[in-house]
Amino acid sequence: MTWTHNTSPTCDLCNAHDVQDEQHVLLHCTHRYVVSLQKTHASLFSSAGLNNVSTFLGQENNKLDFFLLALIVFYEQASSRTY
Ligand SMILES: [Zn+2]
Repeated sequence: MTWTHNTSPTCDLCNAHDVQDEQHVLLHCTHRYVVSLQKTHASLFSSAGLNNVSTFLGQENNKLDFFLLALIVFYEQASSRTY
């Protein structure tokens, strides 16, 4: 499942040529805004198991909701710009 409705499933926000799935968006996207969000919420990325989306989303960290919300808003805006 991709986050945007583009015909191409690869992420159009970075140059990784990765499929824009949850794992890419949460952990691997190199778009500068996503990277800055990851830095702002660095405590979310300090624990082990970060290649596993369900482990990441299962963290007991009160920053997780803020990080996810900011990401979702960003991707919604980014994908609507392409129309
Ligand atoms: Zn990306």
